[in-house]
Amino acid sequence: MMNDLPEGQTQSDQTPDGAASAVERRVSPLPCPFCGKPADLEDEDTLYPSGSGWLFDEELQMRTYHRYVLTPKEQWCYTMHCPVQAGGCGAEMHGDTKADTLDKWNKRANA
Ligand SMILES: [Zn+2]
Repeated sequence: MMNDLPEGQTQSDQTPDGAASAVERRVSPLPCPFCGKPADLEDEDTLYPSGSGWLFDEELQMRTYHRYVLTPKEQWCYTMHCPVQAGGCGAEMHGDTKADTLDKWNKRANA
């Protein structure tokens, strides 16, 4: 599990070109890594909160996972799907934030 800063709380967000971080949120998903179906974020079955969220435990120095109602919205876990009902293969990718989930989805072995 990556232990990077929570989304939206990166004070030291230094990207080579300043606009990049604003654009990052709007990053468009690549096609499904398994079947190649284009991912459609307009389809609410594609990317949605998984029902859990995380809190940072200062004592343990790690994230602990809880029901989403116990965590702030920015710290909800998301799941990205290749929805079968839309002709996809049913692949799933989980992440600690929406951006994290999309990052994983967009990751390719040859990237
Ligand atoms: Zn797929």
